[in-house]
Amino acid sequence: MFELKKVVRPNILALKPYSCARDEFKGEASVYLDANENPYNAPFNRYPDPLQWAVKEKISKVKGVDKENIFLGNGSDEPIDLVYRAFCVPGKDNVVAIAPTYGMYGVCADVNDIEYRQVLLDENLQFSADKMLEKADANTKVMWLCSPNNPTGNALDKDEICKLIKAFNGIVILDEAYIDFSSQASFLKELKQHPNLIVLQTFSKAWGSAAIRLGMAFASVEIIAIFNKVKYPYNINILTQKQALTMLDNASQIKDWVKILLNERANLIKSLKELSIVRHIYPTDANFVLVKVNDANATYEKLVEKGIIVRNRNTVVLCEGGLRITVGTPEENAILLSELKKMK
Ligand SMILES: *Cc1c(COP(=O)(O)O)cnc(C)c1O
Repeated sequence: MFELKKVVRPNILALKPYSCARDEFKGEASVYLDANENPYNAPFNRYPDPLQWAVKEKISKVKGVDKENIFLGNGSDEPIDLVYRAFCVPGKDNVVAIAPTYGMYGVCADVNDIEYRQVLLDENLQFSADKMLEKADANTKVMWLCSPNNPTGNALDKDEICKLIKAFNGIVILDEAYIDFSSQASFLKELKQHPNLIVLQTFSKAWGSAAIRLGMAFASVEIIAIFNKVKYPYNINILTQKQALTMLDNASQIKDWVKILLNERANLIKSLKELSIVRHIYPTDANFVLVKVNDANATYEKLVEKGIIVRNRNTVVLCEGGLRITVGTPEENAILLSELKKMK
């Protein structure tokens, strides 16, 4: 049985959070003299809504998740870090993650002095719930999954994800940063059935808004309450909130972008297959593709000389010889392909 109280750090469970002026008075008033703000320079003089309800209301409609089940962070980076600060006792607790995967899980573990245990994906780049559970002990608080996974690009097996969430008595994070590009369904629909699941999504990829730094975490109201207790009071600034509202009002634009990028992804893969330097193209459910080439380092350097930057993943476990290529505009992809064609 999953019991949140047993997974939260004792000091966080006992924490009385900072109560800001915007927390203490919530209604509408005509004269605000409670927060030592400057009365001039509207609208930037006022502190923003600490819980960003206007943004969450719109996200709720787009995602079909109650607004009480949403946490917004300064990029996904913030909820990733908060997971450690809320659930893991430094120098004592540990987490288990698939490997290879997104580097931030491991960096944040190091920053917070939490042991980071890795379980290698198999030759099909899939994971085994049993292997993850075998790596765990009494101090394992969190398991990290990423689907579609970065840098491999593939979606993880749905049944195996379900199995892990049900079998593990700690927190399971499922990072769905690339879910809009995937043929697999999001786990958001199943959030209610899993009190230990946190789903991460972001405005940085399909939403085309990496610069505004807005990440979403979806979880039970109890987990969201823990995050809200630990976060900085005004973690999402007003410029970001405003731009997010604008993007959410144009949600159909995102669908159009995704359609274009998926079409381009298919074209890119087809053309890459014909190149002599390409050894293998991994299946992808994301807006990038992992490609094994004859000499990854040399290819990378030659592309840099031409002003074309891809991600060299040659030193990443299971990705040896691999370049991670983001799907760009048709023009950008054509430039990449024409340079690759010249290489041996
Ligand atoms: C790009 C990416 C993110 C996005 O992080 P932000 O902090 O929201 O920009 C999250 N997870 C994975 C796996 C990613 O590749």
